[in-house]
Amino acid sequence: MVYRWAEIIRNTLLPPVCLLCGAPGNGGRDLCEGCAAELPRNRHACARCAEALPAGAAGAVCGRCQRRPPHFDAALAPLRYAYPVDALVLQLKFGHRIAVARLLGELLADALDGRPGPLPELLIPIPLHPRRLRERGFNQAAEIARTLARRSGVALAEHAMQRARHTRAQSTLPFAERAANVARAFVLHEHVRARHVALVDDVVTTGHTVDAAARTLRLQAGVERIEVWAPARTPPPDG
Ligand SMILES: [Zn+2]
Ligand SMILES: [Zn+2]
Repeated sequence: MVYRWAEIIRNTLLPPVCLLCGAPGNGGRDLCEGCAAELPRNRHACARCAEALPAGAAGAVCGRCQRRPPHFDAALAPLRYAYPVDALVLQLKFGHRIAVARLLGELLADALDGRPGPLPELLIPIPLHPRRLRERGFNQAAEIARTLARRSGVALAEHAMQRARHTRAQSTLPFAERAANVARAFVLHEHVRARHVALVDDVVTTGHTVDAAARTLRLQAGVERIEVWAPARTPPPDG
């Protein structure tokens, strides 16, 4: 309630301005109609990992997910991580523009309407390393999840998951040890009772991070259905 009033006051005092071009925002958002129409949409994507597929293959599952299914059941990423979405994410992470998280959360929430099946019971953001959190001052995945929780009515467990402190930087390890290292990257900090959870991240790149988090939820809390929700997904390496 307090949050909603704060939002109303903010929107009244500060009219929305497009974060990409500075024009007046549309529909109460910090995005104008023209820039919204030009965002790179991830329309034809693997139902399992949200990686872009050739046109006409929407709803299908990519070859990699067929060969080695991830620990999560479905993924939703309405945008491709390409210009200007990449520029927005950089503004958020390194320019500390929290308004970007709200906008990305709104764009992701829009995509929930077309999503099949019931909503999850709980949203869990992918946590940052404690050191990175100290440097940045906020977790961008948690900020996006806050908007999603407000729009969808799904409960948010912001601190349910944490990074395990004993993992080493991937770059210091031989390639063969990296999968095992990331597999131990997360621990549950709170008891998760939900059977159906959505993990929230800002961008899904290789999918290894969300896969490791899903594995932890499955093994440590017995969560039955795990979805991954992120505003953007990187295109496949070959284009
Ligand atoms: Zn604009
Ligand atoms: Zn896939």
